[in-house]
Amino acid sequence: MLKLAGFIVGTIVGSFLGVCIDRMPRGESVVAPGSHCSKCGAQLGALELIPVIGYVLLWGRCRHCGERVPIWYPLLEVGCGLLYAGVLGKYGFTLSAVNALISISLAVVAAGIDLGHRVIPDRLTMPWMIAGLLMGALSGGLQGILSRALGLLACGGLVLLIAVLSRGGMGGGDIKFMALVGSFLGFLGGLTSFVVAFIIGALVGVILIVLGIKSRKDEIPFGPFISVGTIIVCIFGDRIIPLVFPWIRL
Ligand SMILES: [Zn+2]
Repeated sequence: MLKLAGFIVGTIVGSFLGVCIDRMPRGESVVAPGSHCSKCGAQLGALELIPVIGYVLLWGRCRHCGERVPIWYPLLEVGCGLLYAGVLGKYGFTLSAVNALISISLAVVAAGIDLGHRVIPDRLTMPWMIAGLLMGALSGGLQGILSRALGLLACGGLVLLIAVLSRGGMGGGDIKFMALVGSFLGFLGGLTSFVVAFIIGALVGVILIVLGIKSRKDEIPFGPFISVGTIIVCIFGDRIIPLVFPWIRL
């Protein structure tokens, strides 16, 4: 039952995250006006607002002007539904689950915006870093805040160091995004996310070059890999963190 509820809530959140991905880079409000067609501006009706089902009812097109609704909207909704179901199935309805769900949601938005626009807005990262510290306070009081702050500084500092050494291989958005991840997942979880991101990023980079889709000179945004690393650690952290830090007992 909790998984089913998680799936339904996840699709609704996914629908909202789609709006954030669409509007945040343009500096628009993510709340008002309500969901509307990007071409003719027609407001969506109550039925059409239902995640996935709305898309199917409309056959993926605007009722008024026939403009196609991008397929990534329903895919994002289903994907978030599955992730939410997975987290709630694993942790139950706990503070750890809420922490993981917020982390995953932020990771999804950051990846979506970075893929489309090659930026990760400060509006997404900066305020939520404070939220990460506050989540630490809720779970472990002062010690909780300190461990999150350590994660924030270590993760942000690591990417800052790489950015300086590689002279622009990673940008300010990546630094702040990684600091954000550290504020939610702490020192071990945050750094493990980075390791996973780095490995997957390197593999995907090699594959894209071998297939001739990208050349060595092309820049591939790193943000989406940080997102994938974060999501993997949120769900499988208990197994992966000990692989990266074998000398630490969780
Ligand atoms: Zn329209």
